[in-house]
Amino acid sequence: MTVVAVILILAAAVMLLVPAVRRRTLTPPIMRAMGRALPRMGDTERIALEAGTVWWDGDLFSGRPDWKKLLAFEKKPLSPRERAFLDGPVEELCGMVEEWKVERDGDLPAEAWRFIKEKKFFGMIIPEEYGGLGFSAIANSAVVTKISSRSVAAGVSVMVPNSLGPAELLLHYGTEEQKRHFLPRLATAEEIPCFALTGPEAGSDAASTKSRGVVCRGFYQGRDVLGMRLNWRKRYITLAPVTTLIGLAFRLHDPDHLLGDKEDLGITLALIPPHLPGIEIGKRHDPLSVPFLNGPIYGRDVFVPLDAIIGGKERAGQGWQMLMANLAAGRGISLPGLATGASQLCSRVAGAYATVREQFDMPIGRFEGIEERLATIGGLTYVMSGARVLTAAAVDAGEKPAVVSAIMKAYLTEGMRTVVNAAMDVQAGAGISKGPRNVLAHAYSAVPIGITVEGANILTRTLIIFGQGAIRCHPYVRSEMEAVAAKDLEKFDRAFFAHMGFIAGNALRCFGHALTGSRFARPSGVPGPAGEYLARLTALSAAFALVSDASMATLGGQLKRREKISGRLADALAWLYLGSATVKKFWDDGKPEADIPFLSWGCEKAIDEIESALAGVIENLPNRAAAWMLGAVIFPLGMTSAAPSDALGAKVAQALLDDREERLRLTRDIYVPPPDDPGLGRLELALDKVMAAAPAVHAVKAAVRARKLPREPEGTLLERAVQAAVIDEAALKRIREAERARDDAIQVDEFDPQQLGHRSPGEPDAERYRPESAIHPSRAR
Ligand SMILES: Cc1cc2nc3c(=O)[nH]c(=O)nc-3n(C[C@H](O)[C@H](O)[C@H](O)COP(=O)(O)OP(=O)(O)OC[C@H]3O[C@@H](n4cnc5c(N)ncnc54)[C@H](O)[C@@H]3O)c2cc1C
Repeated sequence: MTVVAVILILAAAVMLLVPAVRRRTLTPPIMRAMGRALPRMGDTERIALEAGTVWWDGDLFSGRPDWKKLLAFEKKPLSPRERAFLDGPVEELCGMVEEWKVERDGDLPAEAWRFIKEKKFFGMIIPEEYGGLGFSAIANSAVVTKISSRSVAAGVSVMVPNSLGPAELLLHYGTEEQKRHFLPRLATAEEIPCFALTGPEAGSDAASTKSRGVVCRGFYQGRDVLGMRLNWRKRYITLAPVTTLIGLAFRLHDPDHLLGDKEDLGITLALIPPHLPGIEIGKRHDPLSVPFLNGPIYGRDVFVPLDAIIGGKERAGQGWQMLMANLAAGRGISLPGLATGASQLCSRVAGAYATVREQFDMPIGRFEGIEERLATIGGLTYVMSGARVLTAAAVDAGEKPAVVSAIMKAYLTEGMRTVVNAAMDVQAGAGISKGPRNVLAHAYSAVPIGITVEGANILTRTLIIFGQGAIRCHPYVRSEMEAVAAKDLEKFDRAFFAHMGFIAGNALRCFGHALTGSRFARPSGVPGPAGEYLARLTALSAAFALVSDASMATLGGQLKRREKISGRLADALAWLYLGSATVKKFWDDGKPEADIPFLSWGCEKAIDEIESALAGVIENLPNRAAAWMLGAVIFPLGMTSAAPSDALGAKVAQALLDDREERLRLTRDIYVPPPDDPGLGRLELALDKVMAAAPAVHAVKAAVRARKLPREPEGTLLERAVQAAVIDEAALKRIREAERARDDAIQVDEFDPQQLGHRSPGEPDAERYRPESAIHPSRAR
């Protein structure tokens, strides 16, 4: 019996370990089974998956991230010219726009538009040789962050021409002639670009566009030329109402084979002047009253020559590839910048307001309920700020990190949603009543826009992040798929069995980390809590890799439709990235002691999110045997993480309230207006005065508690405190000033109905507000 068992084990070992035997016995059926299980992929999907580069996301998929590499990764510093631009023109532009007024006028002031053009805000990504500013990604991101903290309308207006659109596409794919003609004009906003991809039928599924072009001959500027006749319906297009250069995406057909053999050439991108016959433009959408210019564009039988195609006729049909490649970097810069700017603003506003506003004779920030919100605001802002800088630095280092950019777009705009909502709760009525004093309302209105544009978040989370990550970043899946497609047995065998070793290694490490509390995963040279968090993230990276493999192995091609599973896997990957960025920020900022609560909050939040996401996958995996094994290996002692504790949250909240330096450091990227500004300026002034008066106020309260000073009559308490030498005259003055500033800061705006464009109570139909009996006394009972 024993002999038979030994023979069987040896035979199995030979089959597994000797490649020549394995490739004749085991590998062919496995390769066939994998061929059947792999999801079918269309061209557009394949192009989207292959766009961009693999960067730190590859490490997170490996189960053993190389933390030394991440911590040593140096971001490109702002150049003196970029720094001067941020401190000069950006400050000046922020000073010119007051969001409430912009909303009332439906547009930025003419002076601001002139300034934007003159200072080349539209040309940040255009190199200097083409007349632009030639800024780095980190500078572009810093400019968007700062402007958005002052005005979402101005932020979006500046952001759009510098993100996916004509300039970016021309830079990468334009012919030299196109670049020389358009880029200098785009840099100075002589041309106002828009980019029209979305149509009524094609939103998230943009590749299904019904906008059509047909290759044909026609007359253009009096000449008979080979060109395209275009028909399109586009909507939601930012800057469309004022555009002078439409970047248009459409599907190009060549039924008469004027360009070659192919009839359906595919998605094509062209630059179209809006004045051509057949183009209808100028109407507007109203995006939640956020006053940036947005509207539809229609084109009917519009004829343009072939050289309107970006990159010339050789690029006909390559539009989808061009778009996906550009999104791979752009999504990581613009909206994450806007989201971080809004979140830093919320941190400032909520911290100041919670200190200045008193209820029940206490600053509201001292109530635990408000403290919870402040902790979320401060903690998430720290995480987002770290991720913004890390991702922009990667783009500057030449990466086009498609998966990371998708994570940044979706999770930072979600972060903004959480932070803005929490800040609205802190300001309550003052956040709701719109007017020049209210700085949160505009960010609140902008949240769903950030969530929706550049790939709506649900789709990005459930379809793109893990889908693309699994194929691009996983160390073996792509090779396996390529080998299956090429029917290359040897390549498949190599990749597949290395993959098996990878799974076994991750399982062993997961089990070991769980039993030892990740003690041996700590990277050397990283002392203190940062090292502990990296050890936990290493263990979770291994767990993520294992759960990913189990999900792919047991669900195969079905995983694409199991969006609740792939969404949770996206959450785990995203928080692995955000956790990494949090530690990296702490490290690069010089490990300040005062930042430890922020580091801890960010990392504990990340660890909790990752564990919950993985546990959610395990709970819901249809193959229960696999799920049981995953649970036993990853959580043999049960789940160990917890959301950041109340005590930790309190420390983060305190930093926003009291620790002025810490609060300033957290929000260093935003625009802070002067004290006469009705919004943040007034609030900051009140905070300064309240903080300056705080020791004197405490002295008076202490004297009352010690019964050295009778509380009543309250109206003369302060004067009596001076007489009793509890405080001096200067302190009394500070308290009085603080009271006035506090009273001013908590006021909200009031308007006559006419100012709001409502019916005036003096107008006849205002009678409907009065009781029936007052209008028709006969009906009174
Ligand atoms: C203010 C604003 C400015 C814009 N600017 C521009 C611009 O300048 N140029 C431009 O071309 N476009 C622009 N857009 C369009 C924007 O990119 C689209 O709104 C976006 O792509 C979503 O399309 P949709 O609104 O039609 O939603 P839909 O595609 O109808 O989606 C509805 C919901 O379904 C979800 N969903 C769809 N498919 C899936 C799936 N397979 N799995 C899971 N969930 C799914 C989406 O996530 C979304 O939550 C703008 C939009 C707005 C609102």
